[in-house]
Amino acid sequence: MRAAIAGGGLAGAALGWRLAQRGVSVTVFVAGAGRWRDATGASGGLVRGFDTDPDTGRLAAESLAELRGDPRLRDWAGYQEGTSTYLLPPDADVDRARGTLRTVDALLPGSAELRPAAGLAPFRGLPEGTWCVRERYAGHMSPGRLRDSLLRAVADLGGTLRCEPVLGVLPGPALRLGPGVERRYDVVVLATGPWTPRLLDRWGLPGQELSTRQIQYTLGRTVPPGLGAFVDETSGLYGRPVGTGQMLLGLPTTRWGVGPDEVAPDPALVRRVAECAGLRLGLTAWPGPGARTVASLDCYPVGGRGGLALRGCRPDSALYTFAGGGGGAAKTALAAGRLAARTLCSA
Ligand SMILES: Cc1cc2nc3c(=O)[nH]c(=O)nc-3n(C[C@H](O)[C@H](O)[C@H](O)COP(=O)(O)OP(=O)(O)OC[C@H]3O[C@@H](n4cnc5c(N)ncnc54)[C@H](O)[C@@H]3O)c2cc1C
Repeated sequence: MRAAIAGGGLAGAALGWRLAQRGVSVTVFVAGAGRWRDATGASGGLVRGFDTDPDTGRLAAESLAELRGDPRLRDWAGYQEGTSTYLLPPDADVDRARGTLRTVDALLPGSAELRPAAGLAPFRGLPEGTWCVRERYAGHMSPGRLRDSLLRAVADLGGTLRCEPVLGVLPGPALRLGPGVERRYDVVVLATGPWTPRLLDRWGLPGQELSTRQIQYTLGRTVPPGLGAFVDETSGLYGRPVGTGQMLLGLPTTRWGVGPDEVAPDPALVRRVAECAGLRLGLTAWPGPGARTVASLDCYPVGGRGGLALRGCRPDSALYTFAGGGGGAAKTALAAGRLAARTLCSA
């Protein structure tokens, strides 16, 4: 089987690696990877097993178990273990969360527990009845470093990396690579992250209910003692410690449908994050001097379901997208890539 993947972000790299491991002749078009600020290059890199969506939780727990269990992958990803705290609002579906926790427990035994968050330091002012999922085996990684290593591994397994942009797709399936230059493959996958919705539109393909959303976080001084990676659904605040005495903190943005050339940091959101950091974590002077804000985009499934997954573009063609990470797919990429490769090979 000859497969072409457009896009050398973490999704394209993970899928390319899995296909190459299965003996598929794979070509990854990596134009832009690492050069532009793609989602993988900007990613905060938080990894954990738990997610409120059970399917995402399974992929995240499988990916984390593989990452922790394989010294080579740990090194490739620059994985740093810490703890993860996920705060669920009082009206959360706790039975659903328990179901996901059973999956996490099967893959990462003894890692996660669900308990009331009352009195949990360093959080302040949590609504009464807030729940907390604590994970012992979680942390962060560098998605950009993992992507680079996976692409090198694709080449080592005999795959091809081509540093040129894909200019169009044809139902063949085939790729248009220049004026009059078309190349046919058995399978073509667009792993073009937040570029995907506009490329589908430009190339006359169905939209697949994918959109984009801006993601923004700020790196500032001070880390509250004992705080690892966290997501606080009661306020929207999320973050993790970064290196020497810095904390990455963010809140979800409302900027949907943004194009890759239209990303711009939102100063009002930085102020809201600072206010929230004061109220929830007692960080009254955050972000402090030398703060830096990172803004980028990810591809989101409209309606929030599905995450990073293979989606067929046309019933008459082996043309797919592998996108829709929805702001949290770095932690699922290893397992999602394996699942997508298995599906493509069996199809
Ligand atoms: C700011 C931010 C923070 C995040 N934090 C986390 C986190 O803490 N934890 C977590 O699990 N996830 C996180 N995510 C999500 C995760 O990083 C992304 O879901 C994942 O990296 C998406 O990878 P991708 O390969 O789909 O997209 P991308 O990394 O954007 O890659 C797409 C690639 O396609 C290329 N491309 C586009 N058009 C073409 C073309 N025509 N031809 C060839 N190539 C093309 C682009 O240049 C790009 O390199 C975050 C995302 C962002 C943006």
